[in-house]
Amino acid sequence: TRVGFALVGIGKLTAEELIPAARTSEHARVAALVSGEPDKAQGFARALGLTDGDAYTYEQFDELADRDDVQAVYIVLPNSLHREYATRAARMGKHVLCEKPLGVNAEDAQAIVDACREAGVLLMTAYRCQYTPEHWAARDAVQDGTLGDLRLLHSIHAQVEDDPEAWRLKRELAGGGPLPDVGIYSLNTLRFLTGQEPEWVFATQHQPDGDPRFQEVEASMSALLGFPGGVSATIQTSYAAHDTGTLRVMGEQGSLNMDPAFPYDGLKLSLSDNDGTRQPSFPEYDQFTLEFDHFARCIRSGDTPWTPGEEGVQDHVIMDALYESARTGQVVRLPTHTKRDAFR
Ligand code: NAD
Repeated sequence: TRVGFALVGIGKLTAEELIPAARTSEHARVAALVSGEPDKAQGFARALGLTDGDAYTYEQFDELADRDDVQAVYIVLPNSLHREYATRAARMGKHVLCEKPLGVNAEDAQAIVDACREAGVLLMTAYRCQYTPEHWAARDAVQDGTLGDLRLLHSIHAQVEDDPEAWRLKRELAGGGPLPDVGIYSLNTLRFLTGQEPEWVFATQHQPDGDPRFQEVEASMSALLGFPGGVSATIQTSYAAHDTGTLRVMGEQGSLNMDPAFPYDGLKLSLSDNDGTRQPSFPEYDQFTLEFDHFARCIRSGDTPWTPGEEGVQDHVIMDALYESARTGQVVRLPTHTKRDAFR
């Protein structure tokens, strides 16, 4: 039987992506839904062939403890609520799949890792791009020497957020602006591709006066990150620039370009060297199905997920440093322990 998940929060991502993806998953199924609106949760439950009894309110969340057929909880709530629900799920002995960003800062995210470790449950940060064949092909090209020695890395991830009331623009709920929401893809992917951690960062951010959207969080950030061996990266992110998601890696012998790099489908990878440019093609897939299947397999085998909680914490450590740099105007050095594979 498939591993049962309770989905917590039925917003856009849950309704439009996760529920359809779970339907086609080989190893995972939705067994329960948790929402602030009972009618909505029951409607989705029935559409999935479940019963009204499989729909829970946030107040009833702890009743999931009695559900042996719910082995995992997938947290799809505004960022500042991840910690509370992840911790409560872990205490019930449920494995936790948590949306990115893992928390609102490194300390908050580390508390989730600690709670899951203490409870002896698995924790996975939902970094969907790390489960796609395009991103793995890019990683292979970077790591197998196809591009030669690495020199320059670049990524932009931007979109327009136009509702001043959106939780994404409230510091307390989101933890920051475009950086932890979309810029995190640039950061996480460059770490994934290189398998390296930045040693220092420098950032500037823009928060325009008088724009009701950006009273609490930055509108845009531009950052420079120093990776080992003199490899430097630029990352730019914005909530006030037209939809863009691009990734470039330049080595001495070749380069790669992914554009778009981060949507749910239609990713395009091209690899260039002195002989020309090729655009490999890949089979179709659903990123969220891949993610569900990966975590379900880990739950069955007891293996640590490919993107564990520590991976989410590390991005927060770097994002905290980026904000510190933007605030102080100084380069911020990062601890050097953080080779990605160290925590596997
Ligand atoms: P959303 O606004 O569409 O949905 C959020 C849900 O949380 C809603 O159902 C809302 O009712 C509920 N909620 C509970 N308490 C709330 C509160 N105090 N304030 C506001 N809403 C509250 O958001 P979303 O786009 O589904 O994002 C949810 C999480 O998923 C976030 O952590 C986000 O970063 C992540 N996300 C990830 C991806 C991805 O590609 N992996 C895409 C979108 C969102």
